[in-house]
Amino acid sequence: MFNHDTAALEAIRDGVRGLCSHYDAAYWRGVDERKAFPEAFVDALTEAGWLAAMIPEEYGGSGLGLTEASVILEEVNRCGGNSGTVHGQMYNMFTLLRHGSQAQKQYFLPKIAAGELRLQSMGVTEPTTGTDTTKIKTTAVRQGDKYVINGQKVWISRIQHSDLMILLARTTPLDQVRRKSEGMSIFLVDLHAAIGHGLTVRPIANMVNHETNELFFDNLEIPADSLIGEEGKGFRYILDGLNAERTLIAAECIGDGRWFIEKASDYARSREVFGRPIGQNQGVQFPIAQAHIEVEAADLMRWRACHEYDNGLPAGASANMAKYLAAEASWKAANVCLQTHGGFGFASEYDVERKFRETRLYQVAPISTNLILSYVAEHLLELPRSF
Ligand SMILES: Cc1cc2nc3c(=O)[nH]c(=O)nc-3n(C[C@H](O)[C@H](O)[C@H](O)COP(=O)(O)OP(=O)(O)OC[C@H]3O[C@@H](n4cnc5c(N)ncnc54)[C@H](O)[C@@H]3O)c2cc1C
Repeated sequence: MFNHDTAALEAIRDGVRGLCSHYDAAYWRGVDERKAFPEAFVDALTEAGWLAAMIPEEYGGSGLGLTEASVILEEVNRCGGNSGTVHGQMYNMFTLLRHGSQAQKQYFLPKIAAGELRLQSMGVTEPTTGTDTTKIKTTAVRQGDKYVINGQKVWISRIQHSDLMILLARTTPLDQVRRKSEGMSIFLVDLHAAIGHGLTVRPIANMVNHETNELFFDNLEIPADSLIGEEGKGFRYILDGLNAERTLIAAECIGDGRWFIEKASDYARSREVFGRPIGQNQGVQFPIAQAHIEVEAADLMRWRACHEYDNGLPAGASANMAKYLAAEASWKAANVCLQTHGGFGFASEYDVERKFRETRLYQVAPISTNLILSYVAEHLLELPRSF
């Protein structure tokens, strides 16, 4: 229906699956228990070139589309891993590729493709403004050949495992712009140069093993050529990357959903209570069947979003709806899987509780379900703006 090269996608699945087989459930459980970062897995995925899938060949990547990239992240989660530890690089690379100068692209993209530099972090969210991004208070003021940054960010992920961060800051005060979406800019920040020289990082303990932080900027000076694209257009640039980000998140949720359904089905077939497999009871099998139907339906919307994006068609509606459907479906599958396992669903050694926590995140980040509903209501159904 969407003209995918099924054999090529299957080859990607096989390749990623092969790599993931070295990082099994015990590996991810251990990383989760130690609250550690899965360095060995991330290094292996980088070295194998999977994170450079969408970087054009001229910059050393594979030049693949969103369709193929989505399969890579889906398969990581489908194998029981967590692509939340790596997905930032795929999202952030778009911003640099689409809006960076020729010099920035030529310098950074080959190094990112080769795994010499990691672009895993994007700093947008702030503690006092949350989803209302246009009200951000972090400022970047031009002073000669540098910008001086002051402000605060929250929930900024993978800082400790990234060399670079894309940062959104206000360059023109809100009361001096025509529209609130104007006057913000994005910068490529060298984290090694910044940390300890105006940037302070404070990790946030959280319910998933997600490396995420508060950032404090106190007169951080960065070179003026760190600016990506034109000053004042940063918010538009960030929005530009969102359709790809949402579609990739949808694929990750679909990977999770399939993992939960397989895990629940296996357990329902083998666990015997009252002298028969629990899966023989329709009260147990129907919720699993329902979850399966919903994951498969979400997957269709994900393929539609990939198809539109890769063919240069407007993809906003499909990308948002795919993310919504897939996050709902994976969360439902997580609940069903936990319920099917009874008490054992709570035992860490079954991995269900870990994946349950991990997939729950996608109802909130990188965009909450309510904000997608608001997008659909306003942009697709032409209902009045609510904010
Ligand atoms: C583990 C984790 C990692 C993250 N990583 C990053 C990162 O790397 N970079 C980054 O920039 N951000 C990151 N985030 C931040 C994430 O994008 C935000 O948490 C998310 O966008 C929601 O913002 P908020 O937490 O401020 O919620 P708020 O904006 O305070 O909203 C709270 C709740 O109210 C609802 N709400 C708010 N306004 C409305 C409205 N008008 N109508 C209906 N409902 C509304 C929201 O949907 C939400 O459920 C991360 C978050 C987490 C938890």
